[in-house]
Amino acid sequence: MARIPEETLERVRDSSDIVDVVGAHVELRQRGNNWSGLCPFHEEKTPSFNVNAQRQIYHCFGCGVGGDVLKFVQEIDRVSFMEAVTFLAERAAIDLPKQQGHGEEDRLDPLFRAHDLATKYYHHMIRQPEGSAALEYLRRRGLTDEVIDHEQLGYAPAGWTSFLEVAGRRHFSPDVLSQSGLVSPSRRGQGHYDRFRQRIIFPISNLSGRVIAFGARAMSDEDEPKYLNSPETPIYHKSRVLYGLSRSREPIRRSKTALVVEGYMDVLSLIQAGVENVVAASGTALTADHAQLLGRYADRVVLIFDGDAAGSNAAVRGIDILLKTDLDVRVVTLPDGQDPDSLVRESGKEALDKLVDTAPAALDVYLDHMVATMDVTSVQGRRRAIEQLLPLLGDTTETVKQDLMLRRVSQRFGVGETALRQEVEQSIAQRAAADKRQHQRQRQPATGMVDSAPPIQQPLPPPTVAHRLERQFAALLLQFPQYIGPTMQRLTVDEFTDPFVIRLVALLKDRFCNVDRIEVSALVSELGDDPLGQLVATCALEEFDEAQARQLWLDHLFHLRRKSLTRQIDDTTRRLRQAQEAGLENEVRSLNAHVRELINSRTALTDSQNQEAN
Ligand SMILES: [Zn+2]
Repeated sequence: MARIPEETLERVRDSSDIVDVVGAHVELRQRGNNWSGLCPFHEEKTPSFNVNAQRQIYHCFGCGVGGDVLKFVQEIDRVSFMEAVTFLAERAAIDLPKQQGHGEEDRLDPLFRAHDLATKYYHHMIRQPEGSAALEYLRRRGLTDEVIDHEQLGYAPAGWTSFLEVAGRRHFSPDVLSQSGLVSPSRRGQGHYDRFRQRIIFPISNLSGRVIAFGARAMSDEDEPKYLNSPETPIYHKSRVLYGLSRSREPIRRSKTALVVEGYMDVLSLIQAGVENVVAASGTALTADHAQLLGRYADRVVLIFDGDAAGSNAAVRGIDILLKTDLDVRVVTLPDGQDPDSLVRESGKEALDKLVDTAPAALDVYLDHMVATMDVTSVQGRRRAIEQLLPLLGDTTETVKQDLMLRRVSQRFGVGETALRQEVEQSIAQRAAADKRQHQRQRQPATGMVDSAPPIQQPLPPPTVAHRLERQFAALLLQFPQYIGPTMQRLTVDEFTDPFVIRLVALLKDRFCNVDRIEVSALVSELGDDPLGQLVATCALEEFDEAQARQLWLDHLFHLRRKSLTRQIDDTTRRLRQAQEAGLENEVRSLNAHVRELINSRTALTDSQNQEAN
């Protein structure tokens, strides 16, 4: 390959401001020369991704990625070096020297070029006599020629080798075409044939707008499957691609809202009706990667389901993937027999807007589905439902959101929150114990003596959701004993809930209130087989940034006090209800006053925290 001269590369780099280029993918906030935002390469909740405008580089402190603007484009769009140079050069209107052939180092380039050719070919064919039925179908579905041309919709003719021959004349080898998923090797072992035959073609693009795959709809209802997609290839990973995102990400970023519909036609109909912030998964149900991708641009995701699909398992799976994120997730269920296309055609964009604005929270829809399909009135039924909810509750690291979810679940299931929290924690413990047994069984040599072997050491139970924060706090105290005294002035030992943390905090309070440093190894060996020794060791391994220790201590202290107050409010309220039922008036009066006091303390605590934050 004619290599690009270094001076041209320099020009491309100089004309591509990294803040602009990254800014198209990541919401950046400026601090001096540095810009920061949520890393697009790993999942995070606080920004550790930094872009330096002066040095024109990016770096993530969370996952360690970094480089210059070319590296960024290669990584984010999963394209080759040449592709990245070409993309940035086009963007900056710089002419690249003509290339001869394509080099070894540019392995993916032929796959992109094969897709370019296929896109043009299929789009050309839809205007040919044999494509007229396909064109007619799209027009009947209400698509204008403008959309058909802009989206380069196409038609793959009926023959077995139509595209193969066209590509062959342009010197594409069957191997490259096969690697790109456009043709398949014949089962009889000789030759290749077109993957897409007699189908309407929807080109699928990456974020740079380059076609990387196709979705293809059968022309007749007898043809199975109705939709056929490109297979996974080196340039197409369906779990990471959303149909329509290359054109909708700006509208999504502006409105902070992404609409997710089920199919290609839904996306196109909505675009035509003037709804721009819309995408669909292509050839797969929503994945965690999709959710992360949406989270780069949107705060709010609205899933739009056809009436008949709403309660289906696939729909529920999509909801449950999104519920694990920080996104505000909503669900629109269309009336029976309607899809987004028919809705906007019959009732206009306003009808959809209205449904979107009033869409119920996804968690409620999810819980409704559970209540409808499982018996949550019995303890066993509830246990099963909780088992299903655990991954959601367990993966939600944000305590505020977790509390909120528990509250909703308790309302929907008609069970007290405290009781429910206990059931959840029991379930987590049981599941952890089962995992552990499984793990031990797998590790045991097959001697037949397995069952009689006594455990060597009592294991420390893994932390439940609610206990994680407490254990981290205990680790902080262990490593920074200067905070033990001040902590004990603000919290009592029994305000913790993890029995092991309670023991550890009591021990720290009794023995290490006035020391600068704790000899961890001495303490661990002193504790011997006691699982508390394992907790001390784990706590010693937590890594804290010393400069942040005080802030972290204050934050944790705030959350622990808030949780403790909430727990006390719940308990007192429950006792209050019992007293009311029993008609104990004096008791009711004093409990009422107590609840009010607790609520006031919690409000005061939150206010003081907010003031500090401002
Ligand atoms: Zn990162």
